[in-house]
Amino acid sequence: MSWEDNVRKVVPYVAGEQPKNQDIIKLNTNENPYPPAPRVAAVIKGFDYDILRRYPDQNVSALVSALAGHHGLDREQVFVGVGSDDVLAMSFLTCFNSGKPILFPDITYSFYDVWADLYRIPYENQPLDENFCIRKEDYIRDNGGIILANPNAPTGVASERSVYEEIIRANPDSVVIIDEAYVDFGGESCVPLIGKYDNLLVMQTFSKSRSMAGLRIGYAMGSKKLIKYLSDVKFSFNSYTMSNLAIAAGVASVEDEAYFAETTAKVVATRERTKRELARLGFVFPDSKTNFIFAAHRAVPGQELFEALRANGIYVRHWNKPRIENYLRISVGTDEEMDKVLAFLEDYLKNKE
Ligand code: PMP
Repeated sequence: MSWEDNVRKVVPYVAGEQPKNQDIIKLNTNENPYPPAPRVAAVIKGFDYDILRRYPDQNVSALVSALAGHHGLDREQVFVGVGSDDVLAMSFLTCFNSGKPILFPDITYSFYDVWADLYRIPYENQPLDENFCIRKEDYIRDNGGIILANPNAPTGVASERSVYEEIIRANPDSVVIIDEAYVDFGGESCVPLIGKYDNLLVMQTFSKSRSMAGLRIGYAMGSKKLIKYLSDVKFSFNSYTMSNLAIAAGVASVEDEAYFAETTAKVVATRERTKRELARLGFVFPDSKTNFIFAAHRAVPGQELFEALRANGIYVRHWNKPRIENYLRISVGTDEEMDKVLAFLEDYLKNKE
């Protein structure tokens, strides 16, 4: 017997690399290529750092109010945390306690199984169909909870709200979490269903469409009852999750609606153009509604392309996993960045013929 027998052993999630070298084209973590809103910059520049002496507002009231107003919800229906990863982790701990397996797709955000293992929550993966779509029948069965990303990652595929509504309605005894990290780039949000189903929890984040991955702001929306349970768990864990600065900058971002709409539209336009170019170069991909494209080349293996891109200073994401080993997840950067990536691919693939 050793102390090591008493240690919780887990296999952690591996996030995309954050290289020190600034010269690379970084399309590996679905960050937004545009800076945060000018109003956010102004708030950070004028931030009164003396308030850092004080603990932040443990209820994060200013940001909760701003988000509730933005989504047409009551404040008691919003819960804020340190990126949606933090809120998701807290939600797994709060909602998935039946001992029955929770359900999520075989190909999805690879943090879900890590949290399930961390908390010893049993889970069953449901295979996506051949087009990488969820099959709703797979989620209409006995379970301990459900988590689905819409649009899904790393595939970029979105399903209609009605599909999720059927799943939520068929599971009144389970919490259904819809992870909408990428919804602002073209998905159909489940927020309008919150008033109808008290077992629904919807996650969103400031990391993608609001260009604020570095500040770490994510949030959950749901029924007052569910948000209260989540809040009780948070206050049993750490009272002060959000920093003063993150709260102030988060409010500023929500107030700058026009900039948010403009940059999101720019990313979507670049994505659509990149799709056309990738198709011309012989790539296949499911239709993405996100700020990334999950693409495989018809002839050249994924690992080879991943390494060739990397050697040329272009970072994308690749998983050596069944069904997706030939795919690259390419985040949508600026037009200039995508032009460089496409030019490199065109040249590389020409030399392969
Ligand atoms: N959900 C999905 C599907 C994601 O891809 C990510 C980003 N890695 C997150 C949640 C977490 O994002 P964040 O913690 O930055 O809000």
